[in-house]
Amino acid sequence: MTAVRELLLSRIRDVADYPEPGVMFKDITPLLADPEAFTALTDALADIAVRSGATKIVGLEARGFILGAPVAVRAGLGFIPVRKAGKLPGATLSQAYDLEYGSAEIEVHAEDLNAGDRVLVIDDVLATGGTAEASVQLIRRAGAEVAGVAILMELGFLGGRQRLESALSGALLEAL
Ligand code: AMP
Repeated sequence: MTAVRELLLSRIRDVADYPEPGVMFKDITPLLADPEAFTALTDALADIAVRSGATKIVGLEARGFILGAPVAVRAGLGFIPVRKAGKLPGATLSQAYDLEYGSAEIEVHAEDLNAGDRVLVIDDVLATGGTAEASVQLIRRAGAEVAGVAILMELGFLGGRQRLESALSGALLEAL
């Protein structure tokens, strides 16, 4: 394991049975509170952004905002928030997706993504892959190209990588 990866993982707190019994919540607030770790994470994600040839960063609500915004600044790219339904004031595109129980919907301002944009999606945790997959569909429906998805950490046992890889059809999928 690289020193950076070791540092980052050491700053993630496992919280058992949150927000419901049986879930091991990966809490990144200790990492955010540590300037050395937060800077190292921002630098690592910005390297991926540059390598991917992205022209814009999409952050997924809510922790993807915290991680994606400094990466966009560091890489000299625009930042686009993908939000839960009903939070964006302008004309939006929406994408519904299935959860274990029920469904969810994410949105983006339609004017923020266009043909010619190449987008890197950033979030903290890849679990089932449903949220990231929906964001890939949303970006493509907006006419933009998906450069890839970069996440801090994946929960391997939920099959998110396989699901997302087939949606990405060759675009980059990086977990630190
Ligand atoms: P999924 O769509 O199942 O891949 O879930 C990913 C989204 O839910 C991400 O935005 C994560 O922030 C959040 N998430 C899912 N599972 C966890 C977990 N165990 N710990 C922290 N965040 C999680």
